[in-house]
Amino acid sequence: MNKIEHIGIAVKDLDASNKLFAALLGTSHYKTEEVTSEGVKTSFFKAGPNKIELLEATNQESPIAKFITKKGEGVHHIAFAVDDIESEIERLQKEGFVVLNAVPKKGADNKLVAFLHPKSTSGVLIELCQEIVP
Ligand code: ZN
Repeated sequence: MNKIEHIGIAVKDLDASNKLFAALLGTSHYKTEEVTSEGVKTSFFKAGPNKIELLEATNQESPIAKFITKKGEGVHHIAFAVDDIESEIERLQKEGFVVLNAVPKKGADNKLVAFLHPKSTSGVLIELCQEIVP
């Protein structure tokens, strides 16, 4: 795995949190994107070399809606950049990690993504993401 690509934060109200994080980081979000398949609306911030992804549920079936019901707003996942997501999934499965989607799917920000179940990673939802090269 490479660097931390971004940290994902579940929020109840994206507009309100966009304002809050703009004030916190001293810069506005640079993009928003809806991922219909995941039932989320996202926005991205840059803080130096780091990225923050805010996620708001767009329906009650969304994993973000379920997360907020259970735990409230807060850090939802840590995403690591990988060069080859398929081989990384295979490696992690061999190590005994529970991969939630063994077939990578299209996530926000032009990435192929896969998630590791928090029960196999000390309670932290881990996202693997590989940039889609056009
Ligand atoms: Zn993410």
